[in-house]
Amino acid sequence: MKSKDSHDIPPDHPRYESLKLRAKVVDAYKAGILADSGLIAHGRGEAFDYLLGEKTSTVAKKAIETAAATLLLAEHPVISVNGNTAALVSEEIVDLAGALDAKIEINLFYRTPERVRAVKKVLRDAGALEVLGSEENPEHIKGLDSPRSRASREGVYKADVVLVPLEDGDRAEALVSNGKKVVTVDLNPLSRTAKTATVTIVDNLVRVIPSLTREVERLRGMDKSALQDITRNFDNQQNLKDSLKLMIGSYSRK
Ligand code: ATP
Ligand code: MG
Repeated sequence: MKSKDSHDIPPDHPRYESLKLRAKVVDAYKAGILADSGLIAHGRGEAFDYLLGEKTSTVAKKAIETAAATLLLAEHPVISVNGNTAALVSEEIVDLAGALDAKIEINLFYRTPERVRAVKKVLRDAGALEVLGSEENPEHIKGLDSPRSRASREGVYKADVVLVPLEDGDRAEALVSNGKKVVTVDLNPLSRTAKTATVTIVDNLVRVIPSLTREVERLRGMDKSALQDITRNFDNQQNLKDSLKLMIGSYSRK
């Protein structure tokens, strides 16, 4: 059943886009795709997005370019999908995976067989031919409690670069400790995930994933050394500070 809100928002409402997204996550919660705490995580994200003016900043664009270069340089790129990601950008994730020839793997914080099935269906309906993350006997990432530690043999376990939007800090830290490069999308520049990741894009997932796919297409023809130059010239901690500065300055911005 569609949330009532998604039909009732007048398009000229100043918070139209934001309210539409809110209705989308509520619908996903009702459909069993999203856990209740996924709604709370979304609300935290909304607050940071408000401070960004709900736009992709030039600071985030630099992180998106670096993320694209990092993913193009990967031997085994994997996109880790949780409930929020499935609820908001399932089709866009399938497009990105296609552009990168990356695997898609489900990893849920509040994992139940029903929710895994629901998320898998969303991704399949969005066009994914293969969805990892529901194997009977997965590998495990050291330093995490099961079921968060689950890692598909052909997916996260083997990956050298993992794109993990809206990740929890513990898992981001464990992936990095296990030698993986972590690319994340997190509106909170102060979260552990944001600080731990190799590349953090401080922007809303719904804006990031389509622009990341476009950036992958744009950089695809570049040789390896040019891509490496992009990643070498990026300082994630500085990018986080710049994002925070933008948020702090939001009151005086038009
Ligand atoms: P950490 O565990 O990394 O310290 P946290 O505990 O503060 O983070 P979590 O609930 O683990 O937060 O993760 C949710 C994160 O996702 C929040 O930082 C929130 O700002 C961010 N977020 C929520 N919705 C979006 C969105 N649509 N796009 C990008 N980021 C989002
Ligand atoms: Mg957390």
